[in-house]
Order: sequence, then structure tokens, then C-alpha cells
Amino acid sequence: MAWHYALTIDPAASDDDRDDFADTFTEIDPAAPALNVGELSTQRGDGIFESIGVIDSHAQEVVPHLERLAHSARLCDLPAPHLPQWRQAVDLVAAHAGPGESVIKLILSRGVEHGPAPTAWVTAAAAADFTVPRTRGIRVVTLDRGFDSGAAARAPWLLLGAKTLSYAVNMAAIREAKRRGADDAIFVSTDGIVLEAPTASLILRRGDAFLTPAPTGSILHGTTQLSAFEWLASQGHRTEYASIPASDLATADAAWLVSSVRLAAPITAIDGVPLGGDAEFTAALNAYLLSPRD
Ligand code: PLP
Repeated sequence: MAWHYALTIDPAASDDDRDDFADTFTEIDPAAPALNVGELSTQRGDGIFESIGVIDSHAQEVVPHLERLAHSARLCDLPAPHLPQWRQAVDLVAAHAGPGESVIKLILSRGVEHGPAPTAWVTAAAAADFTVPRTRGIRVVTLDRGFDSGAAARAPWLLLGAKTLSYAVNMAAIREAKRRGADDAIFVSTDGIVLEAPTASLILRRGDAFLTPAPTGSILHGTTQLSAFEWLASQGHRTEYASIPASDLATADAAWLVSSVRLAAPITAIDGVPLGGDAEFTAALNAYLLSPRD
């Protein structure tokens, strides 16, 4: 991992009206041990995070990421992050990212067991090279997510709409996809509704309309999907949130997995069935996603 910078945040109370939070940040060596062994983020995955794409030191779509961090905090009963404080931390860390593509991670953990406060830190590191998935595309398989589309409303303690640190299931799904000869997965509810990928949102094209699964609480509302929909609408395309049956996937005209750091990866096959694509369109979408976005 090529680290650029890291800092810890002493989280401010929500009514803290300071303009400058610099003295709540402590620069740390990202390659050195920094966490207490009692950290609940590492013991239980009890915390939330965001991954923000950074291009030439410009952090992309910071406000939607901070809003989603606040949403995840609400779902997890964590103290509300002080958004101006986090914004200053992101700006400071982004300034150290340098040229090229990087990733900033924001982490808010419940803290140390029996400790007084949550722990929070922000890191910047070089992004992996996603040229191949962005240009040659990816094969995906559908995988049962193990809950039905009513689970989020019926069982909010499952934290389905929160971006928690508990990604072991998501990583296991990607390993299962690889065992099945694919690159990635699309989760499907037990009642056959398309959800999201383990680390990305799904966008489908049907004729001139672009569709994505409605963020009903079972999935994350992707910042990249939101931004892509804004761009698509500005290009005169129709965009739609929909309940998409898994049986509709094979008949899509094209499809992409989209996320903050990978950006748009065109899907070339779903469950072994080849899918059409449009290399020129994908290149234009990725050029937009690589441009500075706020
Ligand atoms: N869904 C899941 C489960 C994710 O982990 C991610 C990103 O990591 C996304 C969707 C896409 O979100 P974003 O576009 O904000 O990166």
C-alpha cells in the first residue's frame, strides 16, 4: 500500500461552532501501529466508513460522502459526525495526495471497549490501477444475499443501508464470484430483486433509459451512481430508480458496476451470458467520473 498521509480526529460535539478544527487533528504515520488493541472496529467491525476517490488531490463528491457517513452513523447509533470538522480533515488529507488517482478513507469507530469516545481517522493512499476493468470490463455472477426485500424495514438492526466496517460477507461474495470464474458479484434478494454489488452500485441500460435498484434501505445509495445519473440527465438520457427482477438482467442492453475509486466497469457477462456494451459510451462516462466533481 502506497500511503500518502493519515491523521486521527478528536471528534467534535455536534454543537461545536469553531471555524477551525486543525487542533483536533493529529498526523500519524500510516505505516506504523496506531490503534488500541481494545478497538471495537477491529474486534467487532463496529464502526462505519467511506471511501472517497481523489484525482490530482481533488476529493470527489465530498458532501454526498459526508452525508452518507452521517446516515450510517444514525443507523448505527453512533454520535453524529461534525460535518465541517470532517470536511476540513478531508481537505487536509487530500492536499497530501499528490498527482494521479488516490483514495481517502474516513473511519468512525465506536471506539475502545469501555472507552469514553468514538475513534476516528482519515487516510490517503494511492489507488489501485483500474484501467483493465474500466476498459475491458468485468464478468459477474448473481449471488443470493440471504434476505428478502422487506428485511431492511422489518429488521433495522441488520444495518442494511449503513456502510459499516463489517465487510467480511462482501469480501466472501467476491471470492465466491472468483471461484465461479467471474470477477465480481451482483447480490439478489431471496425474493429475486436485484440489490447491489459487494463494493459497487449497478446501473443498467435499457434502450435510452438508465436504471438502478431503488435505494429502499436494503442497499447503499452510491455516490457514483448519483453523480452518473446527474451526468446522464444532463446528456438528455432518462434515468430511473426501479425494482429490478433478477430475470431482467440478461435482457439489459448494457450494464456497469460503479463505485468511487473503480469508477464505471462495464459488465461483459452475467452468469455466463454475454452482455452487449458500448466502449465509447463507457469511456465518456469514465472521463466524466475522472473530472473534478463536487
Ligand atoms: N454498494 C456497496 C455495498 C459499496 O460498498 C459501495 C462502495 O464501496 C457502493 C455501493 C458504491 O458507493 P460509492 O459509489 O459511493 O462508492
